Amino acid sequence: MEFRDLKRQYQVLKPQMDAAMLEVAQNCNFIGGAQVAQLEKKLAEYVGVKHCITCGNGTDALSMVMMAWGIQKGDAVFVPAFTFFASAEVIAFEGATPVFVDVEESTFNMDAEKLDEAITRVEQEGKLRPRAVIAVDLFGQPADYPRIEAVCKQHGLLLLEDGAQGFGGRIGERRACSFGDAATTSFFPAKPLGCYGDGGAVFTNDDETAEYLRSIRVHGKGSAGKYDNVRIGWNSRLDTIQAAVLLVKLEAFCRTELEAVNRAAKLYDEQLGDEVRTPKVPDGFYSSWAQYTLILDSSSQREQLQSYLKEQGIPTMIYYPKPMHLQSAFAELGYQKGDFPVSESLCERVVSLPMHPYLDDSDIHFVSNAVKAALDQQ
Ligand SMILES: *Cc1c(COP(=O)(O)O)cnc(C)c1O
Repeated sequence: MEFRDLKRQYQVLKPQMDAAMLEVAQNCNFIGGAQVAQLEKKLAEYVGVKHCITCGNGTDALSMVMMAWGIQKGDAVFVPAFTFFASAEVIAFEGATPVFVDVEESTFNMDAEKLDEAITRVEQEGKLRPRAVIAVDLFGQPADYPRIEAVCKQHGLLLLEDGAQGFGGRIGERRACSFGDAATTSFFPAKPLGCYGDGGAVFTNDDETAEYLRSIRVHGKGSAGKYDNVRIGWNSRLDTIQAAVLLVKLEAFCRTELEAVNRAAKLYDEQLGDEVRTPKVPDGFYSSWAQYTLILDSSSQREQLQSYLKEQGIPTMIYYPKPMHLQSAFAELGYQKGDFPVSESLCERVVSLPMHPYLDDSDIHFVSNAVKAALDQQ
């Protein structure tokens, strides 16, 4: 069994996928082909924002927004302590200071109340300029944007939605990657909408930010053509072949895959809900299930469960084993164990089960029965 079965997905999409990739090979329009603009238009429409600017990967997408906002040394940018490293890395990369915020245990996402407290503390200390918040849609579920947006507004901060895992989620009728002042996603193969390599995108309604991003992703190009450079930029483009792959995958995502992962999650919930802490999706929220993550009682229980499942040929993963504030890369920020108890406790106890749109009912029964058997043994 695969943790995320990309091979099965390819087998299902093979005719369209092969044709799409071959077309790029035949036309040799490897960079900047028509598929890129076509994809950007479709993604912007799907998400419900004015602009989609694709780029090389989800980390570049975050960094490009930091650059567009002029985030720099002396600025404080607030980010959850429980996330993938890139969400916080891009802040430090600009020379600014990441300020970590604990998460809610029930959703794995940034706690809006603790965000408010953290911003107030930085304002009172007066050492750093609070500038922006990066909220993360962890495991496919949008963060609590109604509350986070209100906190940002109250303190006059910009809000960036890191939707690398969140594409396809919703709050009411508002889709993920439409929240805040800008949003980003990643097309890394294992994300809800993945390509066949690296890829990413920024979403925004702001015309000026969009124009800036289109310029910096190609060496700070100006309006007079390719060799007119008006600012220092970099090189971060989505290849035509990845755009072609994504056009096929987006169609499947909308037609069947998003529904299929939600069905799989529901089946897991039904099978496991009485035995173990299954993920909770609040009323009005809809997840794209980048991960299906259980919370166990202890790290030793988790260890036993993982080794039992491994014996049965069932892969599991720990997202994430270490919170941001305890990463060596951030040692100089001076955080300590105990600073973010919810994040720390989650790192000890979470485990993610196989999850993807091509799991069939028998796979889910097999995994669920194995989980139950492992827990019964303890
Ligand atoms: C994957 C991921 C990223 C980075 O995306 P890449 O395309 O791998 O650079 C950023 N933030 C989160 C939350 C992610 O899961």
